Amino acid sequence: MQVQRVVLNSQPGKNGAPVPENFRVEKTTLAPDLQDGEVLVRTLYLSVDPYMRCRMNEDTGADYLTPWQLFECVDGGGVGVVESSRCSTCTEGSVVTSFNWPWQTHAVLKGSSLQKVDSSMADGHLSYFLGVIGMTGLTALLGVREKGHVVKGANQTMVVSGAAGACGSIAGQIGKLDGCVRVVGICGTEEKCRALVEDLGFSAAINYYYEDIPKRLKECCPDGIDVYFDNVGGVISDAVIAQMNNGSHVILCGQISQYNKDVPYPPPLSEETQKALQIKNITRERFMVLSYMSKADAALCELSRHVKSGQIKVLETVVNGIENMGDAFCSMMKGGNIGKQIIKISE
Ligand code: NDP
Repeated sequence: MQVQRVVLNSQPGKNGAPVPENFRVEKTTLAPDLQDGEVLVRTLYLSVDPYMRCRMNEDTGADYLTPWQLFECVDGGGVGVVESSRCSTCTEGSVVTSFNWPWQTHAVLKGSSLQKVDSSMADGHLSYFLGVIGMTGLTALLGVREKGHVVKGANQTMVVSGAAGACGSIAGQIGKLDGCVRVVGICGTEEKCRALVEDLGFSAAINYYYEDIPKRLKECCPDGIDVYFDNVGGVISDAVIAQMNNGSHVILCGQISQYNKDVPYPPPLSEETQKALQIKNITRERFMVLSYMSKADAALCELSRHVKSGQIKVLETVVNGIENMGDAFCSMMKGGNIGKQIIKISE
């Protein structure tokens, strides 16, 4: 069987933005027969995520992430359907997902490497298993719960950076559901700001490209900031931390503004920000969703309930076709997505 796949064609280097030409689509042939335990899957949806940027480097800088190899098929979150099977637990027709799905239109995989999903959890929206009822939803929910210290009735204000993205858009809604009286999002376009306030129920939104962040934070957070869900780092986070209250909490989720730079993770803070954290006794613990997988099943059920009841609204940016994987990844890294960036590979 002839299939298409995406290989890493070149590396952007540690200091450089990725470009679509770093990826190349090529044809390959799958072996006709399945071995014991193997399944043939048809890819439905693939995910592009910021952590993939470090997989483009020779050394990812993280022991839990392997680098993508030059001229080999790249992989990441994917969801698909089993078309034929020699695995007793993954029968034909099952919808399955994996964090290491090859960027390939069809693939032969070990059934044991796949998780079966119950499509009713997503009301049939199978792409949600890569977003709100998958890794980014878990990151948002568990990040807030594990590091946010949100207490109902405590009159807390939460700020979210990268607020219109996959994690941020859900984190803000969780903050509201858990009892924050005010949730303010920071993001990169007017359209995103509108979506946050009008569609997702954020209290206010700040466009970091055009607005004076410190001034707008003062206006939007008159009682200071108690919880900061940080997706971006850099100058945006410096501005937020400067207005955080004594004893407040930073959820250190990600630092995307630094991912195209040759810096360690988490990147070093400015002296001023470090001092602010110390003086105001602000916690800033690194959050890693993979460290909380024992809580994943319950959290996914909760996310599913909220999505079905309409308490959590889901935004997605969907592009079609495996040939657009590289474009979609680079676009997401530059802010081209509202909500989760998804690539639809087949019906
Ligand atoms: P998003 O859907 O949020 O997409 C990335 C967004 O980042 C873009 O849309 C863009 O939005 C914003 N962005 C890009 N460059 C900059 C910049 N220089 N300054 C400010 N914003 C920028 O991705 P995810 O939701 O998947 O990931 C969000 C963060 O969460 C990332 O840092 C990621 O690494 C982290 N993460 C952490 C996990 C963990 O376990 N800790 C797990 C999953 C994700 P805009 O238009 O607003 O600029």
